[in-house]
Amino acid sequence: MASPAKNILIIGGGFSGMAAAIQLRKQQLNVDIVEIDPGWRSYGAGISLGGATLRAFKTLGILPQFLERGAADDGVDIFLPHGQQVASLPTPRIAGPDVPGGGAIMRPVLAKILAEVTTASGANVRLGCTFTALRQHDDGVEVTFTDGTTKDYDLVIGADGLYSNTRAAIMPEAAKPKYSGQCVWRAVLPRTPGMDRVSMWLGPKIKTGLNPVSKDEMYLFVTEDRVDNVTVDPKLFAPMLSELLAPFSAPLMQQCREQINDHAQIVYRPLESLLVQLPWHRGRVVLIGDTVHATTPHLASGACIGIEDALVLAEELERADSVEQALTQFGARRWERCRMVVENSGRLGEIEITGGDKAEHAQIMRTTLAALAEPI
Ligand SMILES: Cc1cc2nc3c(=O)[nH]c(=O)nc-3n(C[C@H](O)[C@H](O)[C@H](O)COP(=O)(O)OP(=O)(O)OC[C@H]3O[C@@H](n4cnc5c(N)ncnc54)[C@H](O)[C@@H]3O)c2cc1C
Repeated sequence: MASPAKNILIIGGGFSGMAAAIQLRKQQLNVDIVEIDPGWRSYGAGISLGGATLRAFKTLGILPQFLERGAADDGVDIFLPHGQQVASLPTPRIAGPDVPGGGAIMRPVLAKILAEVTTASGANVRLGCTFTALRQHDDGVEVTFTDGTTKDYDLVIGADGLYSNTRAAIMPEAAKPKYSGQCVWRAVLPRTPGMDRVSMWLGPKIKTGLNPVSKDEMYLFVTEDRVDNVTVDPKLFAPMLSELLAPFSAPLMQQCREQINDHAQIVYRPLESLLVQLPWHRGRVVLIGDTVHATTPHLASGACIGIEDALVLAEELERADSVEQALTQFGARRWERCRMVVENSGRLGEIEITGGDKAEHAQIMRTTLAALAEPI
């Protein structure tokens, strides 16, 4: 069936917005994207990806580029701070028997892969531009842009992230992002020989881990509890991160600690989350990705559920008689999966902060990863 929306605007060129553009262009729909950042940059260190994300990459058509420029392998190894291994968790091959169960890549590299495919798809990308007004009428949305132009669309997709202006414009009453009580530190280091898959060292209050992101780099992450959501002076990044790693006496961790300096691309981020109740649309404006379900990274699935939103929205548009029907169906299909990721990630964080039940932590990880393997 032909889509009831032919002219579509996507606000935000992050992972979710670019994935939507790629899928909608496969249906030959007219797609404009406005991205507020003139450089279309993606910041941050590595991003960890589970098997469900690699399955979404396969559907999008970017799996070969990911496998070439990122890193992928099976399983997760868990250690105590002094180095004793306590578990080795399997990661099912969700994307197919020939695709590893997980992986990671540098964020800017993934953003570049998606931007290349988005541009090649024929989507019209305008950088350094956003909307100033959305005016809904009976058969469309009139959008005014910061460059002074105005255009009519059948559908507007808000994919402008956690602090979405689109969400503020169409549902000012929606829930606001909430600080979780944890923050995460990340750094990029040369890949140690033999470091092929995700490895984590679990301290009583602090968790650290390593994940290869390319043939010769790996990223280090450290999750730390902090009651208040404070900013940290970047001049203090290296000494503070080094201090956090001090109790991890495992030789590999101490080797990493010695490499923490101002060149290690250290990033510090407080962890916030958001879950907006359905419906995720008002009239002909729909929200996807972090605009409606931003998760803490405990299940490494935030990018996954945002990209899956794009796949499902495109499918529902292809089969619906009206935009309203497509958007209602989209929300109904996505709610449970996204709720599960946001709430279960939040619970994992709470257990870590309170030093709670490790068995419950492991159980939530297992059941959520199994549920994510289900078809979307
Ligand atoms: C510390 C941290 C670690 C994480 N680690 C992982 C991980 O390991 N694995 C994982 O899967 N997920 C992880 N996530 C989650 C993941 O990063 C997000 O879920 C994902 O980036 C969401 O993509 P998005 O496109 O919906 O939003 P965003 O990535 O926020 O993209 C929004 C885009 O919209 C643009 N924009 C903003 N406002 C406007 C506007 N008004 N007009 C036009 N454009 C606008 C922005 O410039 C940006 O390009 C992590 C998140 C955090 C905070």
